[in-house]
Amino acid sequence: MRPARVQLILLAALFFVCPFLAAARQAPPVVEVIPQTGEAEKGAIRPWSLAIHGGAGTIPKNIPEEERDRYLASLRAALELGRDLLAKGSSSLDTVEAVVRFLEDDPLFNAGKGAVFTHDGTHELDAAIMDGRDLSCGAVAGLTTVRHPVSLARLVKETSPHVFLVGDGAEAFATERQVERVENSWFDTPKRRAQWQEALAREEAAKPKGTVGAVALDQQGNLAAATSTGGMTNKRWGRLGDVPVIGAGTYANNKTCAISATGWGEKFIRHTVAHDISALMEYAGLTLQQAADRVIHEKLEKDDGGVIGVARDGSIALVFNSEGMYRGAADSKGRFEVKIWE
Ligand code: ASP
Repeated sequence: MRPARVQLILLAALFFVCPFLAAARQAPPVVEVIPQTGEAEKGAIRPWSLAIHGGAGTIPKNIPEEERDRYLASLRAALELGRDLLAKGSSSLDTVEAVVRFLEDDPLFNAGKGAVFTHDGTHELDAAIMDGRDLSCGAVAGLTTVRHPVSLARLVKETSPHVFLVGDGAEAFATERQVERVENSWFDTPKRRAQWQEALAREEAAKPKGTVGAVALDQQGNLAAATSTGGMTNKRWGRLGDVPVIGAGTYANNKTCAISATGWGEKFIRHTVAHDISALMEYAGLTLQQAADRVIHEKLEKDDGGVIGVARDGSIALVFNSEGMYRGAADSKGRFEVKIWE
């Protein structure tokens, strides 16, 4: 073949291949399909991951066995609920909301029923939810009569032009949206009342424990996070913690990860913990585990608390610097575990 002809053929081939190379470079990363045992023939299961928490703090290893088992059983039930939803293809947003609603109803945890008491002997609840697809989010704080703060947060995200509603305004929004309401005393539990009386006697706000949260990656590759809390025992002056502060206690971004935090809220706000973890992944290329370790162990101090996180690749991080963190993790590869201590 004459050289001129060869050149021509090569040029034509290049012309043909180039657009494909460019498209391949821009194409979003393909989500690896990991079929589960028994599900392979259906051929439709794509990876999903879920992590939950029920608070971090000083949880003595010698708590009565029966109490420990109650916590583990509740975490297991919440994890099963989320696992079943994700396995059947529910969105991460629906899943984290459903899991947090479940935990809000469990009096063991400091969220919804079982929330801690304020200085005045009432309950003020905070919650947030975030969708990693478009960074849309909703947060509510200082609620006094809403049974499921996380669902009101979702309504803020989806049916209001705003992101964050507090106090009387948030209660008025709850009335307009006709969500389920309860008397403030409905949130009372004897255990929280005793903790409040102890804190009153010591004249200090007690370190919180028992906030709940969930983060998930769904089969569509979307991330979401939700957190709900009663805050700190004996809090006053309308104190808010990190939970409803987007980027501090709650954050989700499909580019990086979904995070839900628990611990000493003031510290988590100062360090914008949830967003900091995402930023370390986005700008410094750290993995979720590396980023969470860096923030929880190097920026925060011992006993401040911890985070749960799920990354866009499905990896899960459960990191805390306190004695324990009520937590659970499950994924499409069959992982399913709940734990309190290391
Ligand atoms: N972070 C929450 C707050 O400070 C409490 C907790 O996580 O236990 O309000």
